[in-house]
Amino acid sequence: MRKKIVAGNWKMNMTFEEGQTLTSEILNMMKDEHSGEAIAVLNPPFPHIFPVKKLIGQAKGVFIGAQNCSDKEAGAFTGEVSAKILASFGAQYVIIGHSERREYFKESNEMLAAKVKLALANGLTPIFCCGESLEIRTAGTHEPNVKFQLTEGLFDLSPEDFSKIVIAYEPIWAIGTGKTASSEEAQDMHAALRRHIASKYGKDIAENTSILYGGSCNPKNAQELFAKPDVDGGLIGGASLKSRDFVDIIKSF
Ligand code: PEP
Repeated sequence: MRKKIVAGNWKMNMTFEEGQTLTSEILNMMKDEHSGEAIAVLNPPFPHIFPVKKLIGQAKGVFIGAQNCSDKEAGAFTGEVSAKILASFGAQYVIIGHSERREYFKESNEMLAAKVKLALANGLTPIFCCGESLEIRTAGTHEPNVKFQLTEGLFDLSPEDFSKIVIAYEPIWAIGTGKTASSEEAQDMHAALRRHIASKYGKDIAENTSILYGGSCNPKNAQELFAKPDVDGGLIGGASLKSRDFVDIIKSF
């Protein structure tokens, strides 16, 4: 069954104290107000993973993830964090291929494919990001461009492994800009990606893949986006740093 997921990407924000406060507020609001089926995945900076996981404890429907992992298994790679280390500290999910990683850290499709495989080998659920630039959207080639990112990053996986993947479609022009894709634009791309998955892995796997939308999603636009049949949740940046906004987005289903 396709899961409904709202994942928060804290990016490089939140001190220890701030992260603990934000998590506690989210947990309290979720307990008091949320009875829906959507789950929350918090993706803080690495040092928060263990303490945030401890705070989450046995809370229902709240999970912990990382924003990145290394494409190497282990060894002399100063500053890197492996999928194995993340899993040992309790991470359950990992964002792979965020456009900021692709752009600022020059992460190639090949690197991302390696990261996905290591994440899966260590029991982490990859949230695989894809999305087009404004230039590509304006040229009208966004659909083949984003499909290609999926092909290169994921289509080497076995059907069993692919069925563990979560996809996040994030048009780069909508990330952190306040400019959201319209619900029709999001639906069109999500449906195209689902067809692309079906062409490789078959209809069942495609139907069961969660495809999240990311890009200036907020409590005001979440309901309309999540109402679309192929939008299974959101990857939330800015609004995930405010407990009220984040929980209201989760409640938008
Ligand atoms: C993101 O960084 O994944 C994101 C969607 O950011 P924002 O919600 O701030 O646009």
